[in-house]
Amino acid sequence: MNKIIVLIGAPGAGKGTQARLLQERRGIPQISTGDMFREMKTLETPLAREVQEIMASGKLISDDITYRIVLERTSREDCKNGYILDGYPRTAVQAEQLEQLAAEQSMEIQAIEVDVPREELMRRLTGRRSCPVCGEIYNIYSKPPKAEGRCDHHTEAELVHRADDNEASVATRLATYDEQTKPLIDYYERSSRLAKVSGSGELEEIYSQLDKLI
Ligand code: AMP
Repeated sequence: MNKIIVLIGAPGAGKGTQARLLQERRGIPQISTGDMFREMKTLETPLAREVQEIMASGKLISDDITYRIVLERTSREDCKNGYILDGYPRTAVQAEQLEQLAAEQSMEIQAIEVDVPREELMRRLTGRRSCPVCGEIYNIYSKPPKAEGRCDHHTEAELVHRADDNEASVATRLATYDEQTKPLIDYYERSSRLAKVSGSGELEEIYSQLDKLI
């Protein structure tokens, strides 16, 4: 049976970096709800503006809006053999909606927790930079680009610091994670669909743990 891989972890745990690597090396599509919401920035609609405001504050977008974009994206041809969800589900309602979607798509769900100690998360989040062209993620402390402030693949592009990677939004995002998303780890564990990797350490080491599990 084809699989939906669900990566669960606090903001800054490195889910996005790993999901992108899995996409690159294993050809499994990476679906990041956060990336999709960020892409809406260029749209001049009331909904797009509302989404940007909520994101900047560190709160969650409504379950129904989020479900709509997940449904639309995962219904495309490239997802038919399975895909990786990075940043979804984040609430109990979303987990329930995903069960239905998985059943409709005849896929099974495999959840993987990416665990990183809280002290490390702050540094990772505040040091994070990304390329506005290709989305490649860097970190000024742990994964600096070859030339300061420039993407390795798009040297014309200046790396950007996410609007919600400031201390106030990070605190809200971590609290939201503890309250709403962390309980999903137990949820998947109870149904024997949870594996766990340590998100601390070298990028390649973490990748190899994930690669073996998937
Ligand atoms: P991320 O890039 O995954 O950290 O997501 C950035 C922001 O996008 C979050 O802080 C939320 O505002 C929004 N977002 C991303 N995924 C979801 C989701 N599954 N449910 C609700 N809001 C989300």
